[in-house]
Amino acid sequence: MSESFYQQTNESPDESFDQSLRPPGFEEFHGQEKVTERLMLMVEAAQQRDDVLEHILLSGPPGLGKTTLANIISNATGTQLHTTSGPQIEKAGDLAGILTNIQKGDILFIDEIHRLHPAIEEYLYPAMEDYRLDIIIDSGPSARTIQLNLPKFTLVGATTRAGMLTSPLRSRFGLVNRLDYYTAEQLATIIERSAKLLGVAIKKDGALEIASRSRGTPRIANNLLRWVRDFAQVRADGTITPEIARDALAMIEIDNDGLDEMDKRILEATIYKFNGGPVGLSTLAVAIGEDASTLEEVHEPFLIMQGFLKRTPRGRVALPAAYTKIGATPDPQQPGLL
Ligand code: ADP
Repeated sequence: MSESFYQQTNESPDESFDQSLRPPGFEEFHGQEKVTERLMLMVEAAQQRDDVLEHILLSGPPGLGKTTLANIISNATGTQLHTTSGPQIEKAGDLAGILTNIQKGDILFIDEIHRLHPAIEEYLYPAMEDYRLDIIIDSGPSARTIQLNLPKFTLVGATTRAGMLTSPLRSRFGLVNRLDYYTAEQLATIIERSAKLLGVAIKKDGALEIASRSRGTPRIANNLLRWVRDFAQVRADGTITPEIARDALAMIEIDNDGLDEMDKRILEATIYKFNGGPVGLSTLAVAIGEDASTLEEVHEPFLIMQGFLKRTPRGRVALPAAYTKIGATPDPQQPGLL
């Protein structure tokens, strides 16, 4: 179960659970202070001028609060949120359908915006810049362009891969924000808030125990909380203490640092199969039987941040902490470590 735990929690989160714990306003959104401060300022300035917010890009690993922030912005401005994602917009007509339903000031949230089809991106440029959509109808000699004027709206784009955004698209955002992993203390506060909403009794140090294994990610923290809640209910009196949290997380094989089976498999493969690296992403993905993009977007950023892996131009290299984690001895001749 554990090897797919983060995938489950990251890629197909329980929507209703996610929804119910989503902070509705800036005051309940903990952490990411720099980003929220900027956003609040933008909202206030736009409201003073009775104007529409500029387009905003939010980047960062999954589960850090990009969708939540889009909701909060829409609540704060009292406008409607229209949600879609890059791969969902297949044809220009799909985009036209969404944009023609928009009212002045509304927020269009495009998740995974780096996965937009290049042709759709072309349509988006005039829509973002001049609030205009040029649609080509028919083809061949009878092809003609019709121009639709759109109300002024705000595009909020979210991406886990800011580097994959084309520069023309990136430059059309007024504000680009990168979300960082949360500290354990910030996550503990988020867990305590979630526990309150779920009606679960939790000790402060119990929240911190879950937080320290949540890979800096609120979505994972909330999902681990849900698991620990079930465990506490069945195996104890329902109150989450540090001991209960530890036992519950041991049962799904999540270790002290929040690493799961898949993370350990990545480290083991890098060290044992590829002599510590450097190893290319796709080779590593094949060796552990995981999809390369999941590896790159979900597992790797955390392993890098924690100092287990390093990305080099020639591939991934295991760092000393990785050897300690899996109980291996680094080979002094290992090229990656030099
Ligand atoms: P993303 O869009 O970046 O993948 P989401 O916005 O869907 O992430 O966040 C995942 C879950 O984590 C949400 O349901 C929300 O409850 C919770 N969450 C994220 N950021 C915060 C935060 N700063 N404070 C409280 N809860 C948060």
